[in-house]
Amino acid sequence: MSTLPECPRCGQDYVRTARLVETGELFQLCDECLATWPLGAEVVKATFTQLDDFAETRGLPYNTGVEAADTPGLN
Ligand SMILES: [Zn+2]
Repeated sequence: MSTLPECPRCGQDYVRTARLVETGELFQLCDECLATWPLGAEVVKATFTQLDDFAETRGLPYNTGVEAADTPGLN
């Protein structure tokens, strides 16, 4: 049923759509290892960004709020 991609970095969880609470920006996140990819980007190990770096490049603190944003069709 699920078509979510398995995380290519840790292999422990699926990569889901999430949202930065501060900005509303949607992105792709592995809840297990906190690897991120831009929304729509191919989920491959070579291109992941760690969540704290992802936040900091947007001027947000490393522990900025993130919420699930699973939306049918986006994945
Ligand atoms: Zn992972």
